[in-house]
Amino acid sequence: MTLHNLFNNVISLFYPSRCAVCDALSRTAFCGKCAAEYPPTTAAASGFDGLDRVYALFPYTDKVRKAVLNLKFHARPDIAASLGRAAAEFAPFTAADIDVVTFIPLSKKRARERGYNQAEIFAKSYAKGKGLPCRALLVRTRNTAANSGLAAAARKENVSGAFAMKNGASAAGKRILLCDDVLTTGSTVASAAAVLRDAGAASVCVLCAAKTRYDGEDVPEDGDPR
Ligand SMILES: [Zn+2]
Repeated sequence: MTLHNLFNNVISLFYPSRCAVCDALSRTAFCGKCAAEYPPTTAAASGFDGLDRVYALFPYTDKVRKAVLNLKFHARPDIAASLGRAAAEFAPFTAADIDVVTFIPLSKKRARERGYNQAEIFAKSYAKGKGLPCRALLVRTRNTAANSGLAAAARKENVSGAFAMKNGASAAGKRILLCDDVLTTGSTVASAAAVLRDAGAASVCVLCAAKTRYDGEDVPEDGDPR
């Protein structure tokens, strides 16, 4: 973790007070202007095999895309916390549906570079808002190349077998909510969900901060860069 990232991590604990989209000072996840311009999605995403329910808070467009890129590449973990709080407000899961919240793990290499896992911060912030436990259940078994720019089949291949249960973690009988930042083809969350199911999970639902428009070919260059 770089000093800069450490600083931002510490600051984000005390001052999660900027709009996730436009950076304006705001006590809530989004300033009034952005909240009006980017209403959270209310419908579940569909067409994802092997997942029980999938929900993404925003379409991955314009300012939301900028917010996610700031979050991932410009040392703004506070944005993940803001998005998690917004998800706790808008996502259609209740504490009665879910036993435990978890997240897509980063590779060690990426975690070292970035200093934080945006999916983990998002998940923890969501879980805190809902009064649910958040646990690290998964590990990466290998470094995967960024999925950005790959077509669906290549994405699936890229993340196949990339995850395993964390030592000592249990999924048996649990209804799990798996969190990630950006949902594109769903290949990453599907690969992780398969591991949780093999470990006995009763169900695996998915919560993402944003969802790209994906119609088979149209994968944006920066879609799902881990
Ligand atoms: Zn704003």
